[in-house]
Amino acid sequence: MISIEAAQRTILAYIAPLETEKVSVFQGLNRVTPEDHIAPWDIPPADNSAMDGYAFCSQSAQGGKRLRVTGFLPAGEARSAPVPPGEAIKIMTGAPLPPGCDTVVPIEDVKLDGDWLEIGPEVASGAHIRQRGEDIQCGKVVIAAGSLLRPQETGMLSAMGTTSVAVHRKARIAILSTGDELLEPGSTPAPGKIINSNSYTLAAQVLEAGGDPVLLGIAQDTLEGTCEKIKAGMNADFLVITGGVSVGDRDYVKLAIEKLGGSVTFWKVDMKPGKPLAFAVLEGKPVFALPGNPVAAMVSFELFVRPSILKAMGHRRLFRPTVKALMQEPVANEGARPHLMRGIVSRHGDSYHVSTTGNQSSGRLSSLIQGNGLIRLAPHASLVPGDAVEVMLLDRGFEMEEID
Ligand code: AMP
Ligand code: MG
Repeated sequence: MISIEAAQRTILAYIAPLETEKVSVFQGLNRVTPEDHIAPWDIPPADNSAMDGYAFCSQSAQGGKRLRVTGFLPAGEARSAPVPPGEAIKIMTGAPLPPGCDTVVPIEDVKLDGDWLEIGPEVASGAHIRQRGEDIQCGKVVIAAGSLLRPQETGMLSAMGTTSVAVHRKARIAILSTGDELLEPGSTPAPGKIINSNSYTLAAQVLEAGGDPVLLGIAQDTLEGTCEKIKAGMNADFLVITGGVSVGDRDYVKLAIEKLGGSVTFWKVDMKPGKPLAFAVLEGKPVFALPGNPVAAMVSFELFVRPSILKAMGHRRLFRPTVKALMQEPVANEGARPHLMRGIVSRHGDSYHVSTTGNQSSGRLSSLIQGNGLIRLAPHASLVPGDAVEVMLLDRGFEMEEID
């Protein structure tokens, strides 16, 4: 049995970044670009007005002189004729500063008397000008290789004239549920049957990680049935299987992987929930065989599959954040494995509080509906209220301000 961290290291060592594809800048959102993006021009391309106002040469306006307004320059136009000393032009925000001008005063700071502009005695030379290249200089790397493309990178790429961008392609993750007891959603469970929920939890987790899920349906609990379905998943990048990986009479997943020529690297991880968890390589592809219990399946995906998808898609931040939180109730881990308990985390000023979701049976998916974090309780640990404990945050939505 190996530790969570050793399992993560072993798995991640098998995961290489996927090749890249060119997509439209919009489709690049939340993906990672493997290329440096270099500014092809200065942004802004010329000195320009930061305000709707009047542009002139500051020297000719010192001491409260009146300036004659002789022109108008809206955004979108450029003027090459110099503005002579003693004159000003009306200029709109974003219009390039014409020759002969070095200063803008905003409309609201001046008085106009016919064509004559009255400005105060103090004119700050260079005021209200945005300098050419003050945002981005031509030739500079603006977005470095390995960057995650967020809305601001989308805008910056567009400002650099880019319409398509190279990103790591999406990981295609085949998902297979196993079990004779499973029916697909849309039916009412007959005696002895339950609905396959894991396929959909896992598919949603794949989507949330930025990958593309491929649903393979349900394999019956036979060696042949399991082999057939596994083969069908071999054109994806990874295969994720749930159930059938334990030591039950009808647990065929490990056997099927081996029969197809795969090598199982490990099949037990020192954790609760989720001990029976196999990682294998089949035809060069990672295969994750997760436990069937809904909580164990989701938690093991979080710990092992999600970081792998992120790595394959070029991300460098692979793990959820963890915080130290103050336990709000007594908890104990009587077992010899680290226990990942479902927790409800909240924030109180600078500190986090956490309580458990109650019953921690790994079949109770509802515990993950209530919870937003995984409390990591060391083997044989016993905590009293106020003790600090490490919690992995599954989502940070709780830190957002809620409306009344
Ligand atoms: P197994 O690991 O196959 O023995 O399954 C462990 C438990 O998880 C059993 O109670 C199964 O019925 C349940 N289970 C397995 N697969 C699924 C699934 N796809 N959706 C919901 N529950 C499942
Ligand atoms: Mg089963």
